[in-house]
Parts: sequence; C-alpha cells; structure tokens
Amino acid sequence: MAGKRTVCCGVSALEATLAALLMIMTAVCVTLITLTAMSNTRQGPEPQHEPYLIGVGRADCTGPPAEIPLMGYANLQQTAAGIHTRLYSRAFIIDDGQRRVVFVTADIGMMSQRLRLEVLKVLQAKYGNLYRRDNVVLSGTHTHSGLGGYFQYTLFMITSKGYIKASTQALVNGIVRSIDIAHRNIRPGRIYMNRGDLEDSSINRSPHSYLNNPQRERDRYKSNTDKQVVVLKFTDLDGDGIGLLSWFAVHAVSMNYTNQMVSSDNMGYASYLLEQDKNRGALPGQGAFVAGFSSSNLGDVSPNTRGPVCVNTGLPCDYLNSSCPVGGTKMCKAFGPGGDMFDSTSIIAHNIYKRAKELYGKADKEVTGFLHSAHQWVNMANVTVQINATHTARTCKPALGHSFAAGTTDGGGDLNFTQGAVVGDPFWDEIRDVLLGKPSNETQECHHPKPILFNTGEMRRPLPWHPDVVDVQILLIGSVAVVAAPGEMTTMSGRRLREAVKQELESEGKLKDIEVVISGLSNIYTHYITTYEEYQVQRYEGASTIYGPHTLSAYLQEYRGLARAIAQGGVAKLPAGPQPPLFEDSRLFNLLPAAALDRKPANSSFGDVLQQVYPVYRVGDVASVTFVAGNPRHSGDIRDKTFVTVEIYHNRTSTWEVVCTDASWETRFRWLKGSGRQSNVTVEWHIPLQAAAGSYRIRHLGHAKQLQGSRPVVTPYEGVSAVFAVTPSYYHQ
Ligand code: ZN
Repeated sequence: MAGKRTVCCGVSALEATLAALLMIMTAVCVTLITLTAMSNTRQGPEPQHEPYLIGVGRADCTGPPAEIPLMGYANLQQTAAGIHTRLYSRAFIIDDGQRRVVFVTADIGMMSQRLRLEVLKVLQAKYGNLYRRDNVVLSGTHTHSGLGGYFQYTLFMITSKGYIKASTQALVNGIVRSIDIAHRNIRPGRIYMNRGDLEDSSINRSPHSYLNNPQRERDRYKSNTDKQVVVLKFTDLDGDGIGLLSWFAVHAVSMNYTNQMVSSDNMGYASYLLEQDKNRGALPGQGAFVAGFSSSNLGDVSPNTRGPVCVNTGLPCDYLNSSCPVGGTKMCKAFGPGGDMFDSTSIIAHNIYKRAKELYGKADKEVTGFLHSAHQWVNMANVTVQINATHTARTCKPALGHSFAAGTTDGGGDLNFTQGAVVGDPFWDEIRDVLLGKPSNETQECHHPKPILFNTGEMRRPLPWHPDVVDVQILLIGSVAVVAAPGEMTTMSGRRLREAVKQELESEGKLKDIEVVISGLSNIYTHYITTYEEYQVQRYEGASTIYGPHTLSAYLQEYRGLARAIAQGGVAKLPAGPQPPLFEDSRLFNLLPAAALDRKPANSSFGDVLQQVYPVYRVGDVASVTFVAGNPRHSGDIRDKTFVTVEIYHNRTSTWEVVCTDASWETRFRWLKGSGRQSNVTVEWHIPLQAAAGSYRIRHLGHAKQLQGSRPVVTPYEGVSAVFAVTPSYYHQ
C-alpha cells in the first residue's frame, strides 16, 4: 500500500507519558501565548475580546471497504465493494483558558453508544481527565454509505452483520486521531458566526406529518424544512482562516441503496470541496484547513428534491402512505436533483459548499464569552413528563411501529408495509408473536397509536435490542449553543428544542442573543424524534420514535434542565444519571465470516491487468482498467493509504506525480467478487475538464491472502495500467 504509515493510536506507557508531557507543555505554551496575545490586543486601537484557543484536526476513518454492510438503509444486500470517497473525522477543540470543549463530526451514519464509549476510553488513557463525557460531543453526518458494525444493541448488530472489530477500530482510531491533531495544533484564535438560508437543496419527505402540527405554530415558519445554514469561522490571530464548522438539515442520502462504494455522500463532499478550495494543491484529505459540515434536525428532510414518484407509472405516490396503486411502497421513490445519484450528490454538495463559503467569507459577528458543557445520562424508557400544570405523561420502553418496515421514499423496505399505519397487520403481528414475542399490554398502550412491530424494549436476548440509557448534552461556545441530539429530530422537533434551550439559557439574563444549533446523530443512536402531533400520523419517522408519543416532550424537559444548569452556573451539581452499559466483547456477536483466501486465474499474478485502458482519452472521458485483485479486507488498517493512484508523467524530471487517490471524487474503486474466490478490481478515473494534457497511468495497490504450505500469508501486490494520453477536448472538435 502506498502512502505514509500513520502514527499508531494504541496506548503504551511511553505514549501515555509523552501525551502527559505534551499536555503540560501545551498548557504552558498556551498560557504564554494567551498572555502575549492578550497584552498585544490591549495595545490595539480598539478594545477586543480575549481570544479563544482553537485546534482543528481531520483524520481518515475509512474501514475495510468490502463485504461489511453499509449503515443506513438497513439493507443486508448493500455491502461494501470499494471506495468512491473516503470517510473522515473532523475535530474542533475550543478552550477559553478555563474550560475546553470538543466537537467532532465524522462521515458515518450515526454515532453509536458503543463507539462513543470506546473513544472516551482511549481519550481517558491518553489525556486523563481532559476529554470527558461532558465536554466531548461526537456527531455523525448521516452518510448512508459508511460501514456498519460499530453497535452493541441487538437490532443494530443484526443490520450490520454483528459487531465488526475491523470497522469499529478504524472509526475509534480515526476519531481519536482527529482529536490528537486538533489537540496538538491548538493556538489562540477567534470565532465568527454567520447564518443564511439555502434554497433548492432539501424537501420535507413527510409533509403529511408536518401538517399535523398546530396551524399557529406552522404559521411562524415559511417552510416545512429548516433552510438555515449556520457557519462558525475559525481564524488565527492574524485573521487567517483555519477552519469552518457548519450545520444544515438534510439527509445524507443522495447516494441510494444501490450504491456499494464507501462514500461520504453530500455532506462529506461539501467538506471535501471547501477543504480542496482552501488547501490548494493538496490531495483530498490533506492540508491544514478543516471544514466540518454537521448534520442537524434532518429527520424528515430529504435531498431528493424532485420528490417521490411511482417509478413504474410516473404518477404521484399516495400522499399519506407514499405507496403506489401498482407495486405498493417499493415503487414510490424520490429522486433528484441530478440525472443519477452521483450527479445529485454533487449538486447538493456544491449548493451547501457554495453557501457556506459565502457565509464564511462574510462572517463578522465575533463569538465571545465563556465555554460551558453539560451532559447527563437519562433512562429514556422511564421519564415522567410534566405536560401541563395538572397532567403528567410517561415515555415508553423502546419499540418500532409497523411503518418502520415501510422505510421512506429515500429508500423503501422490501416487504409489503406502508407508511401511516395506525392499525397492525394481523399477518405480521402473528409472525412477530411467534418469532419475537408479543409486546405487553402496557407497552402497547404506552405507544398508542403506534402498532408495534418490533417490541425491542422487552427483547433483551442475546443483548438488549435497543438502549434505555441515552446521552443528553449541550456545549455552549460563548453565544453559540450546540445541542447534541441522540437521533434524528424532525424539522419541528428541532425548532421546539432550539427554542426551549434558548429560553432557558437566557432566563437568568446573563446570556443574551444565543444562537442554538442542533447537532444530529450525536453520541448515541435512538432512531427518530417527532413531535407528539407528527407521531399520531405514524409515518416512518413517527413509527421510529422509539420511546413513544412523549419522546420529544421528555427531551425538551431534559435539555431544559441542562440549559438551566448552565444559565445558573450549576453544571457541576448535575447528577451524571445512570451509566450506560459497555457490553464485554465476548457477549457481542459477529455474523460476518472472515475474508476467504484469494485465488487468481491460472498463469496470472495479483495486479495483472485484465481489461486495459485505451491509449488516448479526452478530458471528460472515463478511463477504466481492471486488475486481478485480492479482497480489500486483507489490506488491514487502510487509513491514510490508498488502493488507487492516478499519476501524470513529468518529462523534465522523468518522474510520476500522484494526482488522484481513492479519496478523490474523480476516482471510483470497485471491488468485484467473482466466482471461486477470484476477485478483481476496476478503477475508473472520471477525467476532469481541467485535467492537464499529458501521459498518465493508473495504479492499484492491494493485498492478497494465500496459503504458503499450510499457512495463510498476506502479501502486498501492485498493478499498473498501460500509459495513456489525455488530450484537451478541442483537439477533437
Ligand atoms: Zn435518517
């Protein structure tokens, strides 16, 4: 494999000592720099606010891109088979001299409790008490083309083929490394905020549910999705930009369930575009500038802006059920805005990137004030909610409704379920009773009007099917409050939560003009969070609101509690709440067999070319080459490496220069598992219009596992295409 090897993230005593030393040194340096900076600013013409200390970091967190289910559409056929774009974890550390907060957005489907607990364990070993449950927020961008396998609750393990150490390890190490990098480059700097709207990039995919919210409430908003992009611009003391952190509510499902290449989808590609823009000349995933695009209240928000249609007839789908007269739910799919999913991903990503860049360029409202962080664990299966002065209500043990199995118009279920089911189907109810057990009357009543399909809260074998203990957390960065949401909040749920948190934070009068943002898919995954009114309709999002109709009310109460504690300076007195379990590895199951030994056709070697490139291409063409290959799972830890290089020849120096890797948008690395354990790899290079004319070649770097005697041995191999010419298009006009 090419590329430099990464620093090992395992923790040895030596490393721990070095880390401790580094912390002390950083603290000393930081104090000195702060003092210098403060004295400098005092000499300036205008009184300025004290700077923060800011660190940004990005690290590769791509796991083995083969055979592991992709996480999002819950489709066991959608297993990884290559890479379109790599996945990165992006970390932002901010320090006000007294307190420190860390925000991480990673190109993954969602954060899981397991992943968070594993990351916190490594951070504890490396940094002691510096990075903790209360001051670290981990969030997922919600790409549906990242690997699964990093969960400990049974339902998620089933849809990931179990707990898969190799994919979990890549995420833990990638996330920790992004924090390490941010930690090491922490320096005095400033934060500026800006916000604006982005049109034509999102639609509501459950407008029927949204319409069930009170008219008075809906009248306050001009759209049924949130259009705002909130941007934080990070600069050093010279005013040079070092990073951007942004929030926009849209599902990262521009790539649909037919895709098998690992991809960071629209949000990750927006990060990529801005980073490429700022880190001129750097290969993707390299360069100092870090651009994080975080998920938000995207629960009912689709990027498929042309909306749903019956693919067999071209007619509109049923409004309530999103089903078609012929073919049912399966035929109702949403598309757009592009001609295919790559095109759609690119259009949405470019929209987000361009708007964020504009807002970044004009951001001049400085974020000032102290940092705070508040975190609690809550048993969400058992919260008493004060509905009004006289009434209380309760949350329920987790359960999923019938409409969960219908999926959404962004990717439907395969069985004959429809959205909007408030009555169970006797056929499926009977199967459920036999296979999984009948939900108790108490749970059925608690979830009303949801007909329960998966009674996950009462299913505890081999391990609990869903979490009871959930993280609630707020980071306050001066005047910006980051609310870490443990799932997918719908548009209106997010609005209510933002408003509640703002009200509590400002209630004491000390904090003013607070901007509240929702960071979705943070810390733990608990599916969806709809409003009480949306829940009554029981479309997919309501059916997936697992703690029952009062789930949102319970969260409003819990987050209000955190916000009040911050406003009153009482965070230290917040009880931690019930600690979530970290199940022993031996209790987790793995349904993914080890990767088989590789075979190759007779008289060939791994890396041999099976299908050669053409001698000449024009810009805009696709160069393609196929190699005899091994299973990419045999390549082990692939972070910071590449399976692919596209290289240009420099005549003057007689050298080859790498212009693309497997992280590049322009390359598509596809692994094709053939019969009899033979497999091959096809590399496509979608030659950009601005590519320089010249001589090129494509290389593939991999590993194959074969028997040597009776011992399986993994050996690296390389393959290279013939040299081909790329000519500007005008040569052929
Ligand atoms: Zn989702």
